[in-house]
Amino acid sequence: MTNQNNNVLDENSTRTSGSTALNSNISAAIAVADIVKTTLGPMGMDKMLIDSYGNCVITNDGVKILQEMDIEHPGAKLLVGVAKTQESEVGDGTTSAVILSGELLSAARTLVNRKIHPTAITRSYKVGLDKAISILENESVVINPKNKKLILDICNTAMTGKIAEFSKETLSVMIYDAIMKVVEDDNISSNKIKIQKSVGGDISDSYLVDGIVLDKNPANVNMPAVISNAKVLVCDFALEVRELDNDAKLNIGSVVEYEKFLENEQKYLLSIVNKICEIGTSVVICQKGIDDNVAYHLAKQGILAIRRTRKSDIERLNLVTGKKVINNLEDIEKSNLGNVKSVKVIKILKENYIFMEGFESSNCVTLFLKGSTEHVLDELERAIDDSIGDVNSVLKSKKIVAGGGAIEFELSRQLTDFSKTFIGKEQLILEAYAKSFLVIPKVLCENSGFDEIDTISELTALHEKGKSKSGLNCFSGVVNDTLKEKIVEPINVKMQAIKSATEISSMILRIDDVIAAKQISETNSSEN
Ligand code: ADP
Ligand code: MG
Repeated sequence: MTNQNNNVLDENSTRTSGSTALNSNISAAIAVADIVKTTLGPMGMDKMLIDSYGNCVITNDGVKILQEMDIEHPGAKLLVGVAKTQESEVGDGTTSAVILSGELLSAARTLVNRKIHPTAITRSYKVGLDKAISILENESVVINPKNKKLILDICNTAMTGKIAEFSKETLSVMIYDAIMKVVEDDNISSNKIKIQKSVGGDISDSYLVDGIVLDKNPANVNMPAVISNAKVLVCDFALEVRELDNDAKLNIGSVVEYEKFLENEQKYLLSIVNKICEIGTSVVICQKGIDDNVAYHLAKQGILAIRRTRKSDIERLNLVTGKKVINNLEDIEKSNLGNVKSVKVIKILKENYIFMEGFESSNCVTLFLKGSTEHVLDELERAIDDSIGDVNSVLKSKKIVAGGGAIEFELSRQLTDFSKTFIGKEQLILEAYAKSFLVIPKVLCENSGFDEIDTISELTALHEKGKSKSGLNCFSGVVNDTLKEKIVEPINVKMQAIKSATEISSMILRIDDVIAAKQISETNSSEN
């Protein structure tokens, strides 16, 4: 039904309602899920996304694909939200979350076609979700987060099938070491692990730096390149001629006055240099610009200065030195200098990098990633982010589940049993909910080219015998205990995926009217 506005809406505005609206949203969401399906698992394929300028991204990462895709349909956009939530909450499992949402909606569409009301479906999906969460808890295995081998397995599982795969053993050890250096109370604060990408060499040349690396040049070529026991001043105001306000007026009547004005500005700049020198500074890291003249004088005094440093790096320096980021001339004081054991300017290929190591207050590490092109490095960064997200999840929950579709198969099996305790429509809906989980082992199997029917029947036989950790190893095609095969995932990643998939499919099912609206701000676009 379209354009049934009943004189309430503008005559040109569009409106779809009832089953048309529902079907359109469901179809769009399923279409999105179908796109990412082929990327799931270690044998998943990659997508190449190209914008109108010819720039491209090659990725296997669910959330990245959806973010870069030019998605128009509002129903499809809701699914992008699932991937984003998954990424921000747990850092991995985005593809699984989207695929599961698509499957739940596809099951719901069949039920709606059988004249079951969407409200009944969402109600039973909620019952199914609660049960799924308790099964997940029961099927999880408690681990010791200090177990290095296990953490390495988790990193490896997260990186298989991605560009990082070729060097995943080296990278996993690097990620483990990085995490151990910054973990506090079983929590990793994300800005304590910096990722610095450097084009050149290959992925296996990547290494861990026990400190902060900045991809910056010294503000003047004559500045020192090696400083031990540095006294570092971190500031976020410009060491330049003061900018005038937009509406300020300068009344200069003669050349002499103008020269005087310039002289005053230079005096101001020199007073900054003097103050910096007086207090014994050896390194200045500035978020804003540094005047060439100031840089020249600082160089003359043997001070290293870096201009236009990223805000995130300024925040890291604030954290590791424990000293405040100064934002005015008066605060240039000895007490605001941070101690850093070593600061070095190192040239790698054609780029300069500033390596800062040995902090007093807190620690921060850098994963210095090498790769042949920027595309490789970007995809490598996403794979590493997934691994760090997974390890962070395990440190928090201290529980893992069997991967390779094992947990989803077991969820499906137990939920099917659970559905039999209900009657009528509820039973039908819960059974459909249970069957939806099979999509994960099925797609893993399909993507790796093994026979789906054989695999599912093997899985059924083993799970029926109580071997609930049986899943598919996508490399060998063997169905086995995936914990033994070292295919392990954090419980939170699965928990979040199931929760958001159920919630978003229920949300889409509740929509019975799509009306062209006036501009809606992003923040309230998902309100009830
Ligand atoms: P997501 O974005 O959902 O994390 P991935 O492409 O990373 O998508 O795939 C994750 C899935 O791949 C999980 O179900 C995980 O258990 C599975 N997996 C990872 N390694 C293997 C493997 N060697 N064999 C089978 N399944 C694997
Ligand atoms: Mg993953």
